[in-house]
Amino acid sequence: MKVVKKKKESIAKKVENKKIKLNQEEVMGPDLQQLGFEIKKDLTPKKKKLVFFIILFFLFVVLFVCLHLVVPKIKLNGDSTIEISYFDTYQELGATAQFLGRDLTKKIKITENVDPNKIGTYQIVYSLKDGIFQIKKERTVKVVDKKAPVIELEGEEEYNVCPNEKFQEIGFAATDEYDGTLTEKVKIKETEEGILYTVEDSSHNLYSITRKIHYVDTIPPEITLKGNQTMYLTLNETYQEPGFTAIDNCSKDLTEKVIVTGTVSVGQIGTYQINYRIKDDAGNEQAVTRKVIVSEKTDPNSGSYQKGVIYLTFDDGPSNVTTGDILNVLKEEGVKATFFVTNNGPDYLIKRMYDEGHTVALHTASHNYSQVYASMDSYFNDLKIVSDRVKRITGQTSKIVRFPGGSSNTVSRNYSIGIMSQLSEALFSQGYRYYDWNIDSGDAAGANREKVYQNVTKNLSKNKMNIVLMHDIKIATRDAIRDIIHYGKENGYTFERIDMDTYMIRQRINN
Ligand code: ZN
Repeated sequence: MKVVKKKKESIAKKVENKKIKLNQEEVMGPDLQQLGFEIKKDLTPKKKKLVFFIILFFLFVVLFVCLHLVVPKIKLNGDSTIEISYFDTYQELGATAQFLGRDLTKKIKITENVDPNKIGTYQIVYSLKDGIFQIKKERTVKVVDKKAPVIELEGEEEYNVCPNEKFQEIGFAATDEYDGTLTEKVKIKETEEGILYTVEDSSHNLYSITRKIHYVDTIPPEITLKGNQTMYLTLNETYQEPGFTAIDNCSKDLTEKVIVTGTVSVGQIGTYQINYRIKDDAGNEQAVTRKVIVSEKTDPNSGSYQKGVIYLTFDDGPSNVTTGDILNVLKEEGVKATFFVTNNGPDYLIKRMYDEGHTVALHTASHNYSQVYASMDSYFNDLKIVSDRVKRITGQTSKIVRFPGGSSNTVSRNYSIGIMSQLSEALFSQGYRYYDWNIDSGDAAGANREKVYQNVTKNLSKNKMNIVLMHDIKIATRDAIRDIIHYGKENGYTFERIDMDTYMIRQRINN
């Protein structure tokens, strides 16, 4: 302003003093000089033009920048880079556009080609045309696989392996949702914890799992006794060790290292125990026992054979429904009989049998053929249960037995070849006496009262011992028993119970 003021004052002064018409250039020249702009003293018209154009250029630049700042703009909703997992849907978030207060959002065109089923990078283009303006904006969508593969181990996740052995791979399978089967790419490494399985998918997602392996032996050896676990010897019969094996899961055959203790005094009736002990390298112990029972042998032909005597025998009881009634009839008729009992029915009926003078004898605990005749041990285990029951109720040990199905049964063949012959001998060795029958009432096969009566009475004979097979669990038998007794009495028969002095009526053994 100061400069302009001075300039104006100077021009006015000169117009006043010299009164000459001056052109702008003439005035400016000496004026600028006068005012101290010495630097521009030498400017030629050409140079002045250049300066002019430079100024113009800068003006254009300023204008361009200004225009750029005020063009329409697209604003993306959401981030400019989005990641989605494959198989996920890409949700277009859209964009908005504004220009000088106008909403141009509806004019935005969106071009997208995102394939969520294929890993890759996709560009979504948002374009807008408004008058002279052509605007474009992009959004990047990355379809990625972030899900790691999975390894499924076959077998268990944890194993004990013998210290001297290696783990035998059981198998595994690796799958990835994107890559499919990756089993062949699984890397296996032994670590301190066990076996480490690792797999990587094409997107470098890692998965690993460890199968824990403990190098320990916790399983004791197994001792297998040859022969029977319970052996029956007759007084003074030589005891010979039937042998055994001991196999360990890690140490293998340890038979030689088994320690056997215990003795059998064959000259003395009693129950003896032979103990077999073994310890494996890891200190796991196992022990089994064999029982040896020495008893006086039963002479199969001993006992008194009583012609014309009827031995009523009742199997399979006691039964809540029928046994009590049968005991009533026997009591009223003053007849003694023999009951081959099972593990069924109430104890008080067995007590009654005993108290009322009948013979309580042993049949079977389970009456399950497949169980009873599975082996010698199995038979005697079953017999022991019913024997213990009788001992518990009556206080007496019964040595009178009847085989389920009788000694001539063939059903036992299904479970053990030759077992009836062996059992017969074993029973005698232990001093038992076993009884079959020579008259079958047919009640087990379903005979009615009348038929039971016929079956029994028609087969009675004065020239033989008459051992009658009946079942105190049968209603027909309960209903027929009084008439049978009457028939016997009226025809001169006597009734006896079986005891240890009764001759053994035995059928032919078929197995
Ligand atoms: Zn039976």
